[in-house]
Amino acid sequence: SLCFTSIEVPERLTVSHEALIKNGLADRCVSVPVREATDADILLVHSEEYLEAVKKTPYMTLEDLKEFTLQYGDVYFHPNIYHCAKLAAGAALQLVDSVMTGKVRNGMALVRPPGHHSMSSAANGFCVFNNVAIAAQYAKQKYGLKRVLIVDWDVHHGQGVQYCFEDDPSVLYFSWHRYEHQKFWPQLRESDYDSVGKEKGAGFNINVPWNKVGMKNSDYLSVFCHVLLPVAYEFCPDLVLVCAGFDSAIGDPEGEMCASPDIFAHLTHLLMNLAGGKLCAVLEGGYNLTSLPQSVCQTVQTLLGDPAPRPANLDGPCESALESLHCVRSAHRQYWSCLKHAGIKGDEEKSQEEQVWPEPPKRVTPPIRAALVLPNGVACPDGCESFGASEDADPVIVNKLRYVAAACNA
Ligand SMILES: [Zn+2]
Repeated sequence: SLCFTSIEVPERLTVSHEALIKNGLADRCVSVPVREATDADILLVHSEEYLEAVKKTPYMTLEDLKEFTLQYGDVYFHPNIYHCAKLAAGAALQLVDSVMTGKVRNGMALVRPPGHHSMSSAANGFCVFNNVAIAAQYAKQKYGLKRVLIVDWDVHHGQGVQYCFEDDPSVLYFSWHRYEHQKFWPQLRESDYDSVGKEKGAGFNINVPWNKVGMKNSDYLSVFCHVLLPVAYEFCPDLVLVCAGFDSAIGDPEGEMCASPDIFAHLTHLLMNLAGGKLCAVLEGGYNLTSLPQSVCQTVQTLLGDPAPRPANLDGPCESALESLHCVRSAHRQYWSCLKHAGIKGDEEKSQEEQVWPEPPKRVTPPIRAALVLPNGVACPDGCESFGASEDADPVIVNKLRYVAAACNA
């Protein structure tokens, strides 16, 4: 079980934020103000009974709180947690609003408590409200999105997210997680690769169980390249949400994996090609106070548009990872065209029909690509538009310039 009192600590956020400042990344970000999630937001995922019960926790005695907590698994209720949990979910929603309205291209919400273990009527595994599940429902409802992809790279299975969407084909949930043939927390049968979703949602729940610890960069990249990305391209999401837990990085006491923090630059970069770049990452786990901030910085720097560092020591996936990978591909073969030949040997039939295809749609170049401040006396380069400091420029253009400048720190 998770040992929450010693690892899910406030320092997780402070060291992450300090690292963003120290690496010059915080300055390049647009800060999005936080808000509390409303009852209506929370009820998108949670039951009224559960919300009402959590609402009472700030007024409970410590003894009552302890008893209240005992009905759930591996979670602790502090008198402040209802307030913090509302802010955590609200932060995810503010990020969704900022991305969906084009105020920012993408972003990351650094929040506590995490959310992906929380269920409709139960807190679980440090989680009170399911921040990312609420964000997905909110995005669908407010912006009419047809398809949302949730990528859960935390080392634990976000069973709360799975339960929320397992019969829902509009939300594709992908999770890899330490499993060890059901010996690792939360030790659920339904975390295995053959839980593919139910009814209309069959095929829209992808579980990749890690049956050994010590998984490395090659293992993570293989699963992205051979499972997640082909399916994600076929799914064609309108928005990508990431359950961004960094307990899957090296040094974490929970995960015991060996992937280096820079792998998150690659994972992030690969996801930025989907949904027109609309990506919201929301912090989940991550308990090593050295590798957590490093991983957060790798993710944020990539979201800002910097190229990913060259990956080192890619020596191919290990046998256990390959076995999991093949099991997942086979389990999903019937749902996704890109996997229909998974596990099948032999020649493919070649189509003899004449091929026709539509002209590729026109790609419109955004009016302003980058903004920079030129030193005095330097001429404006060709293809650039110049604005004087005192000039009455179109406020819409000025606004766009400000956002682009904020995004690239030019
Ligand atoms: Zn975790």
